Amino acid sequence: MRSEAALEEVRDWIAASRSAVALTGAGISTESGIPDFRGPQGLWTKDPQAEKMATIRHYVADPEVRRRAWRTRLATFDRALRPNAGHLALAELERRGHLDLVITQNVDGLHQLAGSSPERVVEIHGTIREVVCLACGERAPMERALDRVRAGEEDPPCTSCGGILKSATISFGQSLVEADLVRAQRAAEHCDLLLAVGSTLSVYPIAGVVPIAHGAGARIVIVNGEPTEMDSLASAILRGSIGSILPQLVPDGRGR
Ligand SMILES: [Zn+2]
Repeated sequence: MRSEAALEEVRDWIAASRSAVALTGAGISTESGIPDFRGPQGLWTKDPQAEKMATIRHYVADPEVRRRAWRTRLATFDRALRPNAGHLALAELERRGHLDLVITQNVDGLHQLAGSSPERVVEIHGTIREVVCLACGERAPMERALDRVRAGEEDPPCTSCGGILKSATISFGQSLVEADLVRAQRAAEHCDLLLAVGSTLSVYPIAGVVPIAHGAGARIVIVNGEPTEMDSLASAILRGSIGSILPQLVPDGRGR
């Protein structure tokens, strides 16, 4: 249960912290209108075709899956997704020197749009803001590829080598980027406060940063709408709307 006292206590911890890290999941972006893909009401759970688009084997093998994926990307970007109060609060924490790193499971790029420094965001599942060629590895802005789709190309190939293009996200069947995972784990080992926001903390290996931080002596603060797998490790659990809780955790200008 959320109380004013609990909020105040967490705000004091954040103000006193020497190295705080945030781990964010789908829940921080649902208030921006982005569906949770993996949850019980998730897009992939309810729509097997959507899951196919996110599975590398189907994406490579089936041009129809790719054409559908491009139409979906176009529809996603046409909705002009905006960061919400939760993303903005984390960016503000960084600006005031209270947050070293955001590790995110989200691919929407909303932390950077909210003002978090790109070099302080680890996107463990990649990003929809870029495309990558599956043959030569070249990356390019998503918007440029979408312009080609708008102009009539249903499945635009790589302009350098003709290979298959895909959003620069980690699809099912693809490995995480080792360097990103290592960076996230290092940060967890060295932080003294880990703020886990909007994640059920059930997707591994990234959920493993919570026990890593806890084992290293960090305080764990969980902000989520529902119970998580890691509630037993938490020093504080704040339940409710992420967009209303996070702004209240930003210490004021007097350093508390
Ligand atoms: Zn290529």
